[in-house]
Amino acid sequence: MTAVLRAGFQAGRRFQSTGPQASARAAALREAHGGFSFELTDQQKEFQEVARKFAREEIVPAAPSYDRSGEYPFPLIKRAWELGLINGHIPEDCGGMGLGIFDACLITEELAFGCTGVQTAIEANSLGQMPVIIAGNDAQKKKYLGRMAEEPLMCAYCVTEPGAGSDVAGIKTRAVKKGDEYVVNGQKMWITNGGKANWYFLLACTDPDPKCPASKAFTGFVVEADTPGVQPGRKELNMGQRCSDTRGITFEDVRIPKENVLIGEGAGFKIAMGAFDKTRPPVAAGATGLAQRALEEATKYALERKTFGKFIAEHQAVSFLLAEMAMKVELARMAYQRAAWEVDQGRRNTYYASIAKAFAGDIANQCATDAVQIFGGNGFNSEYPVEKLMRDAKIYQIYEGTAQIQRLIISREHLGKFKQ
Ligand SMILES: Cc1cc2nc3c(=O)[nH]c(=O)nc-3n(C[C@H](O)[C@H](O)[C@H](O)COP(=O)(O)OP(=O)(O)OC[C@H]3O[C@@H](n4cnc5c(N)ncnc54)[C@H](O)[C@@H]3O)c2cc1C
Repeated sequence: MTAVLRAGFQAGRRFQSTGPQASARAAALREAHGGFSFELTDQQKEFQEVARKFAREEIVPAAPSYDRSGEYPFPLIKRAWELGLINGHIPEDCGGMGLGIFDACLITEELAFGCTGVQTAIEANSLGQMPVIIAGNDAQKKKYLGRMAEEPLMCAYCVTEPGAGSDVAGIKTRAVKKGDEYVVNGQKMWITNGGKANWYFLLACTDPDPKCPASKAFTGFVVEADTPGVQPGRKELNMGQRCSDTRGITFEDVRIPKENVLIGEGAGFKIAMGAFDKTRPPVAAGATGLAQRALEEATKYALERKTFGKFIAEHQAVSFLLAEMAMKVELARMAYQRAAWEVDQGRRNTYYASIAKAFAGDIANQCATDAVQIFGGNGFNSEYPVEKLMRDAKIYQIYEGTAQIQRLIISREHLGKFKQ
């Protein structure tokens, strides 16, 4: 465990938000607040405060330069690791803090306020780790999560392929069992941290029979990045979040020991999809952080810029735009907090996670576009902060399930309640 937050965390373990103590804490809060509360615990406030300070003092000033160069922001990631702002989900018996999703989301929102390129690089660790957290055995957890608690290492989640993103069951990467190993061949695409990871979660097909259902055809593996045959491609030049490292990866005769299978052959699809219930709320929190930044930048500017003899904030058209942005930010925050809270209570949160991800992804784009509008011509220029926000926002409607796929899930969950 590292520095600042970890010390505070150990002192305040009784506030843990998952595990058996969680329900006791929830009960205590219910008793104190009449069954419903927006009040954060002291420890949650501390997480938020440390992350906010780090984002505003260290990420914000560095972000434009990383955006221009596309350089991987490892010094910031290392600093976040030292502060205990990264890998929060790693269980305590693996050296981590064992944070719940709610607590992690509070941190994520603050980091995203600073730069969502940095936040995505950090969040990709949670995405890569989540299959191991939910499906790994003790030895796998200790080995792969433990080393990330000891030093600032990255990992990645390798599912998407050039020919299959939304349609995960369409992936073609094959794993064939040979003795005590699996031999993997295939190609992955758009992998965040692809060139920086120490290890990968990999989804591959182990039963190519077209009649085999997705729930049995795929297997999840942990793959050491330095395994012979793992070949990360060039860093992709993306529209936004440019310092995040996105790559294709070729797997050519990669030999993976059978000990690195998660749960067992055929369990991979459920593991890969199950991770999203815990990672979509943080993605929504990231989008909310970006929207909050857009709102703050636009508000400050509207209180400085004058036209027709008054501040533009005094024109009703502009103040209403700010009001709309504020409404959206507040609701996106509530949406991710609800989704995170549900899963921390041990309940299935698929519906809430997709609502949060879809809504926050959309409003991040709307708020960033409105911020550019409020900045006028300056908004279109890279000397000002908001054009970056507009470029950075778009990905929230694409990765971890597109805006359309979220609506597919929400409608399925919604209609399911009526069909029972
Ligand atoms: C910067 C970046 C980082 C990423 N990081 C990762 C990562 O770390 N790991 C990883 O595995 N993947 C990652 N991805 C991949 C990402 O999750 C996929 O790009 C995304 O799921 C969409 O898949 P696709 O690109 O193949 O689009 P497609 O699935 O081809 O979709 C194209 C369009 O069709 C729409 N569409 C598709 N199917 C339907 C449907 N049934 N109904 C309605 N509309 C539909 C989609 O919404 C979209 O608008 C990343 C992508 C990017 C760009």
